[in-house]
Amino acid sequence: LLTLCLKKAQHQQVTKQDSRPVFNISSEMLRRAMETDQFTLVYQPIVPADKSMPVAAEVLARWTHPELGPVSPDQFIEAAERFHLIEPLSLMLLQQALSQLKLWNRQRVFVNLSFNLSALSLPDTLFMNRIMQIAQEQEISADQLMFEVTESADFTDLASSIANLASLRLRGFSIAIDDYGTGYANTQQLLRVPANRLKLDRSMVSNVTEGSQQFVILANTIQMAKQLGLSVVAEGIETQAEANALTALGVEYQQGYYHSRPLDAEALIQYLQQ
Ligand code: C2E
Ligand code: CA
Ligand code: CA
Ligand code: CA
Repeated sequence: LLTLCLKKAQHQQVTKQDSRPVFNISSEMLRRAMETDQFTLVYQPIVPADKSMPVAAEVLARWTHPELGPVSPDQFIEAAERFHLIEPLSLMLLQQALSQLKLWNRQRVFVNLSFNLSALSLPDTLFMNRIMQIAQEQEISADQLMFEVTESADFTDLASSIANLASLRLRGFSIAIDDYGTGYANTQQLLRVPANRLKLDRSMVSNVTEGSQQFVILANTIQMAKQLGLSVVAEGIETQAEANALTALGVEYQQGYYHSRPLDAEALIQYLQQ
């Protein structure tokens, strides 16, 4: 009976406030999904302000469960972290992304990729070595690849995380501090993480109007980033007004639905060739 109840609970669908379905993801479901290639990747363009500079793209994972349908990345990434499956999942996704990038390089489609790493994996030196090994196997040069990181509440092993990130930088990979302006990314992190890019969270940029308090904070954050030698990306740009405001503030890169939604590999090539 207990097993039956548990099974039922697993498939039960609850609804969050924002009306997106929340699923009870089990470790078995994730394992099975990895074994049967249920994960795919999409790529969201990171658009430079100066049109002569190359476009990059952020790699975002997608999961369509055969019965449940699409599951949001926030949910399955959190579940993968909880079940200690985030490392095999990340390695699988990186493998997928970099073999795609290798193909694009061969086809002379030029794009750099930005890949999300879970804060929980950063202290693991074996994992970080494996990442560099995958890049080498796929013949990807370090300057084509950026890693996006945030600090999580349990960013426990801080010293090893910083050391591992530093060794990525030493090998020429780039590091972006993701979600800046939210609880998980703040000025403390600027001092600790050997990053060369700052990604301003959507909450910092959305509905910004010139002269507002939000505008002042944004302008100062951008200035600070520049003085620290970080390039800046504004995330979650949804309107032309936001895009114009950020360009006026001297932000080098923008990402958001206004420029493009995340695209599958084929659509990204079309976007790049436009
Ligand atoms: P993130 O790294 O902050 O990624 C940006 C999220 O904002 C993506 O959500 C993207 O689709 C969404 N977005 C982009 N432009 C706009 C916009 O203009 N407006 C709004 N409202 N949203 C926009 P997504 O794909 O649902 O991913 C959610 C989070 O899941 C990501 O947040 C990231 O933390 C995590 N994630 C996704 N893929 C991976 C992955 O491969 N590995 C890891 N570790 N985490 C991942
Ligand atoms: Ca990200
Ligand atoms: Ca982000
Ligand atoms: Ca996020």
